[in-house]
Amino acid sequence: MPAAGQQIGAQPPDRCDIAIVGGGIVGLAVARELIGRRPRASICVLERETDLSAHQTTRNSGVIHAGIYYAPGSLKAELCVQGARELYAYCEERAIQHERCGKLIVATEAAELPGLDELERRGRANGLHGLRRLDAAGIGELEPHAAGIAALHSPQTGIVDFRAVARAYAEDFASAGGTITTGCEVRALRPGARRLRILHTRGATEAGHAICCGGAWADRLAVAAGADPDPRIVPFRGAYLRLVPERRHLVRSLIYPVPDPSLPFLGVHLTRRIDGEVLVGPTALLAAARDARRLRPADLRDTLAWPGAWRVFHRWWRTGLTEMRLAASRAAFVSAAARYVPELKRRDVVPSFAGVRAQAVTRDGRLLDDFAFSATDRALHVRNAPSPAATSSLAIARRVAEEAERLF
Ligand SMILES: Cc1cc2nc3c(=O)[nH]c(=O)nc-3n(C[C@H](O)[C@H](O)[C@H](O)COP(=O)(O)OP(=O)(O)OC[C@H]3O[C@@H](n4cnc5c(N)ncnc54)[C@H](O)[C@@H]3O)c2cc1C
Repeated sequence: MPAAGQQIGAQPPDRCDIAIVGGGIVGLAVARELIGRRPRASICVLERETDLSAHQTTRNSGVIHAGIYYAPGSLKAELCVQGARELYAYCEERAIQHERCGKLIVATEAAELPGLDELERRGRANGLHGLRRLDAAGIGELEPHAAGIAALHSPQTGIVDFRAVARAYAEDFASAGGTITTGCEVRALRPGARRLRILHTRGATEAGHAICCGGAWADRLAVAAGADPDPRIVPFRGAYLRLVPERRHLVRSLIYPVPDPSLPFLGVHLTRRIDGEVLVGPTALLAAARDARRLRPADLRDTLAWPGAWRVFHRWWRTGLTEMRLAASRAAFVSAAARYVPELKRRDVVPSFAGVRAQAVTRDGRLLDDFAFSATDRALHVRNAPSPAATSSLAIARRVAEEAERLF
């Protein structure tokens, strides 16, 4: 991903002022923001994979969320609305392909109408403009192959390739003098009186401070720096199907269900991507690995050893069974999506990629809904940055940089 001639792929520095751990979209946005504020500081990014943004940042729906879903007053609501606005401006400035294609949230039965009302209320309270309620005919005008009894249309929702956005952040950071080291897994952060010793697979870096943006490994990094293990990251695998090219016309932009308000996931949706593909998904299945692998015994052990994970099983076992059915049976998966696009048939889809959501779960079994940050001696930690953190990345970065200026 890196551009030639820039300081990406560099050796890890022996010393620096600030080290950012994690080269996903959040870490790179934070790195870019910090170097913009402190151009003379020595700042490095340490990323464990050989490429940047190999995890959630690349394996997602690619939707620029407008901010409809999130509880008014929450960090998600505030940072998503700001972040989406800033991201559109950034994409314009950097000529990153994107489209404000709009989205329909569709109710297919009367029982879902209160949920649609609540989304409209939240969207308006979060300051969104242009939200419109549609009836069945209105749905057909925007999405001729979709069906439902009512919908909420959000014209501000859009699409982008978040990997391309992250690449642009990395380029901004590197051309401002930052260094990025890939293939460098941080194992421990040891605070001393004047510096923080960061031990990694390429040796050690003495940093003034660190900011950890480790996505699915955020809890391990925080614990390695001396933080409380609560909350723990519990991985949820999201697998997608994609429409075969000759059936892509079934979906013009984005068609979403009315989500279960007790869960932080949005349900199986149909998403046109910026490259023209149409995705169907994702599932939301408790996973046995924190990356795209199916099983990593250490990750599974971590999940099973966490009391909060058992409380999640206990509370959502019915939802879990439905998700297992979607993951195991393509017919069930397609029929979940065909509620919204009835012409959709099993032969119209082929398997696509899977991503793993890094979802923080508290010891008492709460799926932490909001973004969460914490601090240890000489380090800040992004502890929960699930969707819409990619949309919100520029606003999250500003928030983290302000906190760093206050604490460091
Ligand atoms: C299926 C799915 C669909 C989604 N859809 C959307 C969407 O449409 N819109 C949206 O806004 N958001 C969406 N999201 C959420 C979004 O992708 C994430 O919120 C965002 O990418 C988080 O970025 P990140 O940088 O925190 O995490 P990541 O991209 O996962 O990056 C974390 C990085 O930290 C590195 N790292 C971890 N531990 C270490 C260590 N010890 N040493 C060095 N490096 C380390 C990892 O290798 C990784 O590169 C979706 C997520 C998923 C999984």
